[in-house]
Amino acid sequence: MTVRRISILGATGSVGTSTLDLVERSRDAFDVFALTAATNVDKLADAALRTGANLAVIDRAELLPDLRDRLKGSGCRAETGADALREAAAGDVDWVMASIVGCAGLEPVMAAVDAGKTVGLANKESLVTAGGLMTAAAARSGSTILPVDSEHNAIFQCLQGHRSQDVAKLILTASGGPFRTRSREEMAAMTPEQAVAHPNWSMGAKISVDSASMMNKGLELIEAHHLFGLPSERIAILVHPQSVIHSMVEYVDGSVLAQLGSPDMRIPIAHALAFPGRIDTPAEKLDLAKVASLTFETPDPVRFPALRLARQALEAGGAQPIALNAANEVAVAAFLDRKIGFLDIPRLVEDVMARTGAGQPQSIAEVIDIDRRSRALSIELMTEIAA
Ligand code: NAD
Ligand code: MG
Repeated sequence: MTVRRISILGATGSVGTSTLDLVERSRDAFDVFALTAATNVDKLADAALRTGANLAVIDRAELLPDLRDRLKGSGCRAETGADALREAAAGDVDWVMASIVGCAGLEPVMAAVDAGKTVGLANKESLVTAGGLMTAAAARSGSTILPVDSEHNAIFQCLQGHRSQDVAKLILTASGGPFRTRSREEMAAMTPEQAVAHPNWSMGAKISVDSASMMNKGLELIEAHHLFGLPSERIAILVHPQSVIHSMVEYVDGSVLAQLGSPDMRIPIAHALAFPGRIDTPAEKLDLAKVASLTFETPDPVRFPALRLARQALEAGGAQPIALNAANEVAVAAFLDRKIGFLDIPRLVEDVMARTGAGQPQSIAEVIDIDRRSRALSIELMTEIAA
């Protein structure tokens, strides 16, 4: 394998840390160009020094002197700001891990796509808000988008060597999250600690809350539509509490292909890092005799209204998925801050969507504008909920 020159956007998060772990285990295969983070100077500087990165970008400008201090004499440049983030994404690299959380990741992902880079895409919010623009830009620039989200990575693997016209439907599996068996009444009283305690996966706080509300699966439904080009009615969601089957593809002849593995993000990350090759990972090997049984359930749209809202947003298109995502980001942050209750999350999303039109954004600038307005509206409506 030729040495791949890579950048990791969001290098200090859950996906970023797992990516670094794999890259540091296969040092001969990767050369790190840039690492970026929002606020964690120590973790960013340590990783930059360990990997010999050329560029480290911190989002918070007031932390730059600190970062410069930590990297003095190392040969690694420390920067902040949009231009530096763009350089990390679109500069002298072959492969970019997009693992910033939320819509904040959209502009750097687009910079990488526009520059024709191979992008390992964990940041699902960028596809949810700007999927059409992003896939069109990739077609223009020749950029390859490799899905890192475990479900989409599974589907991508199950599609290899098959003709797209033979696909009948995609089946996205969902663990059901920590509240899978809880009643609405019980969910109303759930705390941030209970919501982030995922039964199978260890992840960042935002996606963990999204898993508890099943908004994560809603976002993944929209993500799958953009990655694989199938309409809403041909993408099914199936609850599978063991998280062993990561998703499936059903073909017209009735064959169903699945991808399996232990629930460890290093497996899909490794797949994207090495594609079309494979690299070793320290992930626990799947022992099906030990797992013993795999079970499946139909998701409950009454207890998990996020599934209905996401499907509605996908079918309406345009500004609706942007409003859904923005309201969800604001609501999840407020829930983690104990300002609103767990069930207020889908309530706020529904209210914001109801007050948003169906306009079709023609550019990333328009997407960002709708995102900003949806956030402002979310904050305004939230003050009413919290009052
Ligand atoms: P995380 O919160 O652990 O990490 C987020 C990273 O983004 C950090 O490095 C942080 O510094 C950076 N960041 C946050 N806000 C930023 C901003 N405004 N500007 C610049 N950088 C910023 O999140 P995570 O769990 O690693 O998830 C990252 C993305 O991957 C999300 O979109 C998530 O949905 C997706 N994803 C995560 C997992 C998982 O297992 N964690 C699985 C599938 C998909
Ligand atoms: Mg996923």
